[in-house]
Amino acid sequence: MKYEDFPKEIQPYLYPKPQGHMAYVCLGCDGEFDISQLLYTCPNCGNVLLLVDKNTSHLEAIDGKTWQRIFDYRRMLNDPPLKGIFRYYEFIAPVIPLDLIIYLGEGHTPLVKANQGLIKETGVEFFFKNDGLNPSASFKDRGMACALSYIHYLAKEKNISDLIAICASTGDTSASAALYAAYLKDIVKSVVLLPKGKVTPQQLSQPLGSGAKVLEIAGVFDDCMKVVEHLAEQYNVALLNSKNSWRILGQESFSFEIAQDFDYEVGDKAVVVPIGNAGNITAVISGFLKFFRAGIIDKLPKIIGVQSEHADPVYRYYLEQAPERRSFKPVAVKPSVAQAAMIGNPVSMPRVIRLVEEYNREAGQKQVFVVQVTEQEIMDSMLIANRNGHIVCTQGGESLAGFRRAIDMGYVGSAEIGVLDSTAHMLKFAVFQDMYFNDAFDPQFHITPRPELQNAPIEVKPEGLDTFPAPDKLLHGEEIDKFVKETAKEIARILGLEQK
Ligand SMILES: *Cc1c(COP(=O)(O)O)cnc(C)c1O
Ligand SMILES: [Zn+2]
Repeated sequence: MKYEDFPKEIQPYLYPKPQGHMAYVCLGCDGEFDISQLLYTCPNCGNVLLLVDKNTSHLEAIDGKTWQRIFDYRRMLNDPPLKGIFRYYEFIAPVIPLDLIIYLGEGHTPLVKANQGLIKETGVEFFFKNDGLNPSASFKDRGMACALSYIHYLAKEKNISDLIAICASTGDTSASAALYAAYLKDIVKSVVLLPKGKVTPQQLSQPLGSGAKVLEIAGVFDDCMKVVEHLAEQYNVALLNSKNSWRILGQESFSFEIAQDFDYEVGDKAVVVPIGNAGNITAVISGFLKFFRAGIIDKLPKIIGVQSEHADPVYRYYLEQAPERRSFKPVAVKPSVAQAAMIGNPVSMPRVIRLVEEYNREAGQKQVFVVQVTEQEIMDSMLIANRNGHIVCTQGGESLAGFRRAIDMGYVGSAEIGVLDSTAHMLKFAVFQDMYFNDAFDPQFHITPRPELQNAPIEVKPEGLDTFPAPDKLLHGEEIDKFVKETAKEIARILGLEQK
């Protein structure tokens, strides 16, 4: 819609201007730092940081109902910087000039309702939010759009054009970082560190295709992360892991969209997210808190975090009910089909601890739960979801398995509605589906395929046929007639078709 066609009272709010006062805040010592430099950890105590808007007067000046109208009208605006996650500009990073925002089509992913068959199985209505429909096919694009927009801004301010952006990854972060950096190729060169053999071929092909320098390292993700952190401390590189708190801000858009897509009624929702490095659950919690504090939503939804029993440090932490007795211990991970979440020492754990406490306090009751699921449940759930019209990856399967566990545990009741994060596209994780279909899992996964969920192509080769077409061999006349007739007959036999 054209600017002049919007209601007069909305027009002044359509195009936001930089008006926030963002600062890094340390979760260890409460120290505050200027955003004119890229910081990943506290220069004083080494703890992780969060970005906080110190000037909330621009948010408070507008009531919740008006914010709702602003976002609903902005949905009709056809201007690239406001078409993605920055529709919620004021709540994400209200310091970046609109003309420096990078938009590659991220965000506003669909909510797809489960069909009756699936709802019957779970006993509770639910939706998948398909974050696999982001440009690099995972939710990581939300955070990367924010981080790279900020880097773009910083580079313009400081006249920098030779930035090296680096990240360690379980696959999807590197695909996303490489994609956004490729768009800014005159300013940023992208380097990604991957644990050799621990990402899928599709995930490896993505940064290669975007032109990134791909470095393979021995070990698992946690080991890559240590190397990247050391690099960021010792050398002049921009770190794009979720230690980079600009990414957390962008990922908050996941919550904003859920609020908007349910017309700001989220009190009866249970939002389910897999936990790996814990950046995503941090952002989801923080996003809902921001909308709640601004009066845009009047209730906080439940949040269900899910971990595989092969990588469950956050689950273990919250097993202890008494907060003062909890202590975080990293775990050694075992192979997991939810490979993107196969992390034993989540970087964002201090953020989770802080935000879960705030969330439960503001909700007036326990609203965040962490559940654990088996590898078998993750795989079965992914396949069952996809057999009912979804496109979920193994981590999306983990969300469904976790939703079912949360229902069994009594955390979610039948009057509630699940919103399950399908964090990536199933095609990125097709290798695990292949292993399931071919019963080829390494014994360490402890996965036995259920025959009714297996599938394989059937080669059609009619017995009475000895001449077949090939790319360099066209069949003609009687030969092709015979081929078509015999092949159709064989298909009819396989399918048990009746002649008309
Ligand atoms: C990164 C990732 C996760 C885990 O998210 P965290 O923020 O690390 O907890 C889950 N699923 C997919 C597909 C991912 O790429
Ligand atoms: Zn500190």
